[in-house]
Amino acid sequence: SRTSEGPTKEHQIVVCVRKRPLGRKELADRELDVVSIPSKDMLVVHEPRKHVNLVKFLDNHSFRFDYVFNEDCSNTTVYEFTARPLIRHIFEGGMATCFAYGQTGSGKTHTMGGQFIGRRQSSLDGVYALAANDVFSNLTSTSYVNLKLGVSCSFFEIYGSRVYDLLMPGKPQLRVLEDGNQQVQVVGLTENAVKNTGEVLALLELGNSVRTSGQTSANSKSSRSHAIFQIVLRSSTTERLHGKFSLIDLAGNERGADNSSADRLTRLEGSEINKSLLVLKECIRALGRQSTHLPFRGSKLTQVLRDSFIGGKKVKTCMIAMISPGLHSVEHTLNTLRYADRVK
Ligand code: ADP
Ligand code: MG
Repeated sequence: SRTSEGPTKEHQIVVCVRKRPLGRKELADRELDVVSIPSKDMLVVHEPRKHVNLVKFLDNHSFRFDYVFNEDCSNTTVYEFTARPLIRHIFEGGMATCFAYGQTGSGKTHTMGGQFIGRRQSSLDGVYALAANDVFSNLTSTSYVNLKLGVSCSFFEIYGSRVYDLLMPGKPQLRVLEDGNQQVQVVGLTENAVKNTGEVLALLELGNSVRTSGQTSANSKSSRSHAIFQIVLRSSTTERLHGKFSLIDLAGNERGADNSSADRLTRLEGSEINKSLLVLKECIRALGRQSTHLPFRGSKLTQVLRDSFIGGKKVKTCMIAMISPGLHSVEHTLNTLRYADRVK
C-alpha cells in the first residue's frame, strides 16, 4: 500500500529509521560503520560472520521503510517527514502519536529534544520545538483561526508501571483510572497553557531537569523510562478536547535482552520495559489492521495512550526507529530494525 512518494495524508502508520553518525569515541576506536543506506527507503546492515576469528563474509540484511534518514540528515528533515504531517491531523480534530524507539545512545533524545537537551539546555531544533512552532503558526492561520483553539502541554514519565508528573514540583506519582466508558485518565495530570514555543521549551526544560536528575550515563534512569510529552488543543470557549499530539521518547530497547543482570530490580525493570514495547508493537499492528481488539491494557504506556489508538480514522501514528551505525551495536541494531519492520 506504500508508494515511492512516501507518507501522504492517507497513511495512518508511518515507520522510519534514522541512522546517527559515528560518535567521537567510536571514530577514535576506529569502529566500523556497518549500516548503508542505498536509497531513501532502504537500508542494509552488513553483519560480519566470523570464521576462525577472521572476518571473512558479510551477512547482508536488507530492510525497507517509509523513510530512511542517513547520518547527514538534520533534525529538521527528520521532523518534516515524520511529525510535521501529524500537526495538520490534530488541527483537523485527530489524535496523533510519534515514537522515538531504539537502544540507548542511538539518538532518541537528540531527535526529540534537540542537540542540547541532554545537557539540560533546550534546543530549537528538536522535534518537540519544531512541532510547537508549527502548532503556534497554525493557530493563527486562516484555515484554523476560526476554531478558537487554545494550546496546553503535559509532560510525564512512565517508570516501571508508575506514572510521574514531570511538571509538578516533587514529581508526584499519579494514578491511572479507567471509567465505565473505557476512558482512561491520568488523575491530576498537569496541563499547562502555553502561548509560544519559548513557553513550551521552558516546560520541557523543567520536566527534563527533574527527569534525569544529573545522571548522564547509559545506565541512567532516563534511559529506563518512557517520557511522554503532549500538545493538547482545546476549544478556548468550551475547553472541549479538539486534538492531541503525544511525542514519546521511549525507554532504551536493549533491556529486554538483558536477563544477565545480577540486580533483581534491574531485571524486573528490563522485563517491564520489554513488555511495554511488545504491547506497543501489538497495539500499532492492531491499528494498522483496523482491529477493534487492542491489547492496550497490557502495559501502562499503551493504557495511557488508549485514546490515541482507538478512534478509527481519527488516529495516526509515526515511529522513528533510531540506530547506531557501529559494529559493536549490530545485534541491537538488527533487533531495532526487526521490531520496526513488524510495526509496519
Ligand atoms: P538516546 O536518547 O537514544 O539514548 P542520545 O540522543 O542521547 O541517545 O544520543 C547519544 C549521543 O549521540 C549524544 O551524544 C548525541 O548528541 C549523539 N547523537 C545522536 N544522534 C545524533 C545525530 N543524528 N547527529 C549527531 N549526533 C547525534
Ligand atoms: Mg535518551
